[in-house]
Amino acid sequence: MTKRLLAVALAVVAVLGGVVWFLNSSQSGKTKQHNHLQVVSTNSIISDMVTEVAGDKVALHTLVPRGNDPHEYEPRPQDVKATQEADVLFHNGLNLETGGSGWFKKMYEQAGKKVDQQVFAVSEGVEAKHLTDKGKENELDPHAWLDIQNGIKYVRNIEKVLSQKDSKNAATYKQNADAYVAKLTALDADAKTKFSAIPDDKKLLVTSEGAFKYFSAAYGLTPAFIWEINTEAQGTPEQMKLVLEKIRATKVPSLFVESSVSPKSMEKVSKETGLPIYSKVYTDSLAKEGQPGDTYYGMMKWNLDKISEGLSR
Ligand SMILES: [Zn+2]
Repeated sequence: MTKRLLAVALAVVAVLGGVVWFLNSSQSGKTKQHNHLQVVSTNSIISDMVTEVAGDKVALHTLVPRGNDPHEYEPRPQDVKATQEADVLFHNGLNLETGGSGWFKKMYEQAGKKVDQQVFAVSEGVEAKHLTDKGKENELDPHAWLDIQNGIKYVRNIEKVLSQKDSKNAATYKQNADAYVAKLTALDADAKTKFSAIPDDKKLLVTSEGAFKYFSAAYGLTPAFIWEINTEAQGTPEQMKLVLEKIRATKVPSLFVESSVSPKSMEKVSKETGLPIYSKVYTDSLAKEGQPGDTYYGMMKWNLDKISEGLSR
């Protein structure tokens, strides 16, 4: 064969190879979706944990988009479709997705999905805390993930369900979960050391929503808030009076405001007390992609760093 002929032959092979590759990849793109476990989760925090455990082994749909409040939600048509097609639905439980007379329950029941068959609470096994407002003491506080030890339980629950539903990938799920849990455990231990160095009379964590009960118990703080849970009357004069009293009884040097609520009420508290709003913190949603706080690990690291810095001033 001449050099020229060889070059032509090689070019033809390359083009054919490209065509075959293209056909294969568009083919596998289709079959992949069908082979993969179809997973739906109610919010961005749970979805991030699923991604850590499963990587690209599952097809994942998140209901409440980043930056939105998971307490109350109006499902979109694509949410209804994903719920109908789901093999597994993960929700927080502990009364998180119960606003609007139970938006999540309504949706999965309409899709014919059942608890413990397709529907799983990632908070299974967590020691639940209750609300503290008068008349609400029997209601659960959903924000358990803000204690990393609970977050680790979420991860193990996700691993367990995925391994049962998709046993051929169980070894991968276990390996990923083990590595992730090791990372979270190190962050948790590091934070506990930081918080233990802060004087007790500064250890008041002031936020808008009372979402930090689990967090405060884990890191030795006392939580104070303007309103107890999103979806209630927010920032009433009585609520403002109570939080100001709590602040004035301590030497707390900083205030915080959640990324997913209006800062107006906390700005009023700041004006009244002369204390700065030291930082935003993440509670019910991850940050937008590309920002610090755009993963569960990232949001916890952000919260732990900013709150320990702010209270150490
Ligand atoms: Zn909340």
